[in-house]
Amino acid sequence: MTKPHRWSIRDSARRYQIEGWGAPYFSINDAGHIQVRPDSTQDRTIDLYELTQQLVARGLDLPLLIRFPNILHDRIRLLTGCFESAIEEYGYKGAYRGVFPIKVNQQRHMVEEIVDSGRPYRFGLEAGSKPELLIALAAMEDEDGFILCNGYKDLTYIEAALVAQRFDNKVLVILERIEELDHAFVASEKLDIRPCLGVRAKLSSKGMGRWASSAGDRAKFGLTTAEIVHVVDELQKRDMLDCLQLLHFHLGSQVSSIIPVKNAMREAGQLYVELCKMGCGMRYLDVGGGLAVDYDGSKTDFHASMNYDVQEYAYDVVAGIQTACDKANVPHPVLVSESGRAVAAYQSVLVFDTVGVDQVSFGEPDRPPADSHAIVRELYEAWEGIRQKNVQEAWHDAQQGLEEARSLFKFGYLGLRELAHAERLFWHCCERIREHVRQLRQVPEELLSIEELLGAIYYCNFSLFQSAPDIWAMDQLFPFVPIHRLDEEPTIKARLADLTCDSDGIVDHFIDVAEVQNTLDVHEVRDGEPYILGMFLGGAYQEILGDLHNLFGDTNAVHVRLEDYGYTVSNVIKGDSIEEVLRYLQYDPEDMVERVRKQAERALNAGRMNLHQLRAFMRHYEESLRGYTYLQDES
Ligand SMILES: *Cc1c(COP(=O)(O)O)cnc(C)c1O
Repeated sequence: MTKPHRWSIRDSARRYQIEGWGAPYFSINDAGHIQVRPDSTQDRTIDLYELTQQLVARGLDLPLLIRFPNILHDRIRLLTGCFESAIEEYGYKGAYRGVFPIKVNQQRHMVEEIVDSGRPYRFGLEAGSKPELLIALAAMEDEDGFILCNGYKDLTYIEAALVAQRFDNKVLVILERIEELDHAFVASEKLDIRPCLGVRAKLSSKGMGRWASSAGDRAKFGLTTAEIVHVVDELQKRDMLDCLQLLHFHLGSQVSSIIPVKNAMREAGQLYVELCKMGCGMRYLDVGGGLAVDYDGSKTDFHASMNYDVQEYAYDVVAGIQTACDKANVPHPVLVSESGRAVAAYQSVLVFDTVGVDQVSFGEPDRPPADSHAIVRELYEAWEGIRQKNVQEAWHDAQQGLEEARSLFKFGYLGLRELAHAERLFWHCCERIREHVRQLRQVPEELLSIEELLGAIYYCNFSLFQSAPDIWAMDQLFPFVPIHRLDEEPTIKARLADLTCDSDGIVDHFIDVAEVQNTLDVHEVRDGEPYILGMFLGGAYQEILGDLHNLFGDTNAVHVRLEDYGYTVSNVIKGDSIEEVLRYLQYDPEDMVERVRKQAERALNAGRMNLHQLRAFMRHYEESLRGYTYLQDES
């Protein structure tokens, strides 16, 4: 006899794919708890379960969003490092500058962490709307700052960006629609500022998967070839060719295969070279976002995964533009990428507890009285006769019995109590069949669904719509894992229901190596003991897409940072209340005005800005803070 296998943390690591999606940040420690290693260059770890208990003890109730700024820093270092390696290895002559797209998470603490962590790597910010530009201008005070302006732009947006070009920062306005060119001319003339412009190209190369329509001929943003030529002609007419400095494209998010990236680089490289030849002041190539995250750890081109890594991405981007430039004898541009997801996804974990369990469990069925309907007695006999060797047959009998009972009821031949009895017997049969199926080495295809049919529902203390809206909106997959008891075998298969009354508020798609699963393996909840789960890799988009959408407000959130002596807890944000958007995001508009005013004064003193521009800008900045976040009528 072989010894019965004792469940180990290695089994859990395999079951939940932790190596695949979590390395180097998440793993299991000897206590069977999830541990976090926020800085991949150090061996220090934080026990997530103990941390959660400590935070709860401080009065921070679950659900709780725990952010690890060290992880953010680590991701920026990784991304920049990969590009720098590629640049060095290939002898590329341009530099790399990453920018963080603010739309991924506009929270002040988040943006400030990015600016702080990104400083040594000369990381910049990308704004996709006017409210985001106002944030970027206040947050990026460095002399060497770098801000890209994307999104739908009206005249006032462009005016703000143009005046900010007089700051120490490099601010570039990327034309995404042809109409914006006229705004740029008007603003430039009105403010007497030569604009620094970029163009977003609609490449014919597309991404892959859910966001593929972000590129291609009918994409929402970007200029067609004809429009780009028109821009060049108009600039030339005004002797402003030097103003066009950047070429941008964006393939869409979560590009899970490297092939579209290679194709896009070939097309964009050619376009860049042509713009240089037409005499534009080209200096930057901006390859947009799209760098993927391996949510299921499978390293494939499945939509929740990626078949390449950051280093390969950097190699392909650098090689793509280098080849085109060298062939045409054009200087290598500064390479810019706008990776949001890949930078932010890992930095936060949502921890929440289970508040209730709905589990099918029956024990022994009642024997039907002798005068019961034949169908009820047959179902009982079917239950009695279930053996390992006839499970499949028993499954057919049970299904048929239930169907017949329901049809007899419909035609009035079976009473309500008898139907109820028949249905209960059906579930008893299922339960017994499942017991046998679990012992089988080879489970017949049609019996695979029985686990799901009998699967439990774990009610959890969180809102899907608030904390993971993409699960609801686009069936996105995130890794869910219990953060403790991982040295015990998880014997229950469950779906996770949230607290909303919405029937869509349920997680029923889970990552797996082979196939997406409808249930998650969980442990039996013990009386009087919390059962705590974590949702991982939700650090990009989820927080901001969720928060203004629901009556379950923001969750509590904290930053946990490694220190020499352990870790510190800071930036405790109690999740609640409804105020104005910026205050809701922990901004202090007065302070922002002050900070921007200081920069404007600096520009004034240095003679880069005149009083008229300063006044126009400050008025605009303050009015924008007070004003509408959506498009304003151009006047
Ligand atoms: C959303 C967006 C990004 C970020 O994309 P990720 O896939 O998160 O890296 C970058 N650039 C533009 C223009 C975007 O719209």
